[in-house]
Amino acid sequence: MERKALLIKVRGLVQGVGFRPFVYRIAHRHGIKGWVENNNEGVTIHAEGTPQMLDSFVQSLGNEAPTASSVSEIEARATDAEGLEEFSIRRSANLSDEITQVSPDIAVCEDCLRDMQEQAHRRDYLFTNCTHCGPRFTIIRSLPYDRHQTTMAPFVMCEQCRSEYANILDRRFHAQPVACLHCGPHYFLLHPKQEWDIQNFPHFAAEQIDGGKIVAVKGLGGYHLLCDAHNTAAVLELRRRKQREAKPMAVMMRDVDTARKYFVINDEEEKLLLSWQRPIVLVQNMTGLEEPVSNGLHTTGLVLPYMPFHHYLFKFLKTDAVVFTSANVSDEPVVMDEAAALDQLAGIADFIITYNREIHNRADDSVAMVAHKIPMLIRRSRGYAPGPVELSFDVEGILATGAELNNTFAIGKGRQAIMSQHIGDLKNAPTLGFFEQSLGRFQRLFRFRPQLIACDLHPDYLSTQFARESGLPLVEVQHHHAHMASCMAEHGLSGPVIGIIFDGTGLGTDGTIWGGECLLGDYAGFQRLSHLDPVPLPGGDAVTHQPWRTAFAYIWKYFGEERALAAAESFGWCEAPTAQNLVRMLGRNLNCPLSSGAGRLFDAVAALTGLCSTSGFHAEAPMRLEAAVSPDHAGHYDFCFQNSLVSLKPMFDGLLADLEDSLSNGVIAARFHNTVVRIIGAMALNAAQVSGIKKVVLSGGSFQNRILVGRSVDVLQRDGFEVYIQHKVPCNDGGIALGQLAVAAAQSRRP
Ligand code: ZN
Ligand code: ZN
Ligand code: FE
Repeated sequence: MERKALLIKVRGLVQGVGFRPFVYRIAHRHGIKGWVENNNEGVTIHAEGTPQMLDSFVQSLGNEAPTASSVSEIEARATDAEGLEEFSIRRSANLSDEITQVSPDIAVCEDCLRDMQEQAHRRDYLFTNCTHCGPRFTIIRSLPYDRHQTTMAPFVMCEQCRSEYANILDRRFHAQPVACLHCGPHYFLLHPKQEWDIQNFPHFAAEQIDGGKIVAVKGLGGYHLLCDAHNTAAVLELRRRKQREAKPMAVMMRDVDTARKYFVINDEEEKLLLSWQRPIVLVQNMTGLEEPVSNGLHTTGLVLPYMPFHHYLFKFLKTDAVVFTSANVSDEPVVMDEAAALDQLAGIADFIITYNREIHNRADDSVAMVAHKIPMLIRRSRGYAPGPVELSFDVEGILATGAELNNTFAIGKGRQAIMSQHIGDLKNAPTLGFFEQSLGRFQRLFRFRPQLIACDLHPDYLSTQFARESGLPLVEVQHHHAHMASCMAEHGLSGPVIGIIFDGTGLGTDGTIWGGECLLGDYAGFQRLSHLDPVPLPGGDAVTHQPWRTAFAYIWKYFGEERALAAAESFGWCEAPTAQNLVRMLGRNLNCPLSSGAGRLFDAVAALTGLCSTSGFHAEAPMRLEAAVSPDHAGHYDFCFQNSLVSLKPMFDGLLADLEDSLSNGVIAARFHNTVVRIIGAMALNAAQVSGIKKVVLSGGSFQNRILVGRSVDVLQRDGFEVYIQHKVPCNDGGIALGQLAVAAAQSRRP
């Protein structure tokens, strides 16, 4: 048979995930000769063989790729056969051309779990990993991804590990973090300082957790705090020691079967839970877990074991549910080194268990949820970052600094956006430090030099100030335009589209706060077609912690001073002098910025129903409101859509009447959600009439709501719209950087 040759280019996330050894193995199996190499386009393969052999080789390439890889494109074209006699892994001739990608961290794989079960074996070990699993991003200092460039550098491989590492047919061939009991990192007790003779750390941790203690354990990208989720006293004590934290806490369980005893878990959620990314997945509570864990919400963040330590822990634990929460103090970045652990965690945890390998890049657990059968990321971090988001256009040289809350930034490399791990709230000084440090590391790691910088329009955002101080050409992107562009970019839409952006806060082009918007546009620009009727927010930012202030303002706006004062008294929101003062502020327009934000509307309704009048954590009010919805109730309130403005007076009329009639919160919350869905439907129909466009993107933080997403998608599809929601990057401000990148690219291309 005649020998043919193909030059195959594989794009996507294909570097640092064992792709070349995989290609080598399938080449052997199919009798293919040639070579494979990494370069800055991905992986390139020269393959020689009979047409049949080549066919099946290319098929295997697509079908059997390593779990953590993500092949976005396989391009094969005929080339000249060179009569090669073997298949080899080539080092790229040009070193700057070598590896340009960094794999996210990968949950320990099934094969390694099996290896770990061999008792008294060198792989019965807490850092077992292979080419298909283990730490990546969190241990990488520099590229190319080689052991000496990682925090594994101080550990000298034993002979057995080295031979596995060097054997191309071994599962641990070039697995940079490869290690065993004899040569790798080990756990030790950091606190308390007394001498404890601990042989088996997971066993020790399990005993302490079962005994009601709080244990801090160093994870992949930062420390976690663990305690028995069935022990109310322990959970409350943990909340107290974490400065009375009110946020719902995640739990870790052994497996899906155990979790089903406590939660409703559908197929999509199960898939996410078991995925190699192992995010925390928000699942619906059934029964049996202590109420302080989720703090009265209807969902709980659930995560399955993803490090060897977690798997060992569940071998010894008596309890089947462990609180698993990031070890940080009041919204500061999660603790990742030993000094900070001693400083910040010794007062929270009874024991701090750590290990002697450094975490170089911090990475919080990612958080995901399933809405309308579609997985959505709420926080894109461990397991996802810094995996690229493939784009349909070039973004080379652009840096996007993101928003202020839930910050992530993004850098543009060719047609890929590389988004940072979750950074957090930049108003926190340590978080801003983390932002700057990470940005510096991304620039070195990805050999990135920004030529153009994109940021939010809001001059007060620290991410904006950082951008302005850079001295680079600047593109300021309106917040909700960025949300819209983010959703478009991940779906490869070029526009124009209708963008319905329901969000908390973002500065509009008219100087007021936006966030209940129907936009029409593309990357280059947009028009504001319609929006929610703005309400003055007495005290500005103060309203985010005090949803009752927004409720007060709505009543003042629609029903006047007297009703507002009466409401403040009857709901017990504040003392009479405070209410009088608010009325004065509103009347004279003192520190009362106007906001059309949907998040504020949710706040107001949560306060009126008494579900949440003061908020202990970000987005508590809308979460409690969603949790209250009677799912089968189909009623709704009226609203008035006129001259591109959605007046909510009829809605508040109905809602206040319902309250007077003592209707249940379940019914009121359902009617409210259904009203918002109808408003979204009306906005889209109006936009379609104006433009003839039938593509709708939904984005903004308010869409982290399963009821809102599910019902909005249904209604819009019924009306003949093509609907797009975000699933690769968060629809909240954690996805803003991607949109900024896309807008900056489009605007810089314009003549
Ligand atoms: Zn493995
Ligand atoms: Zn070893
Ligand atoms: Fe936003």
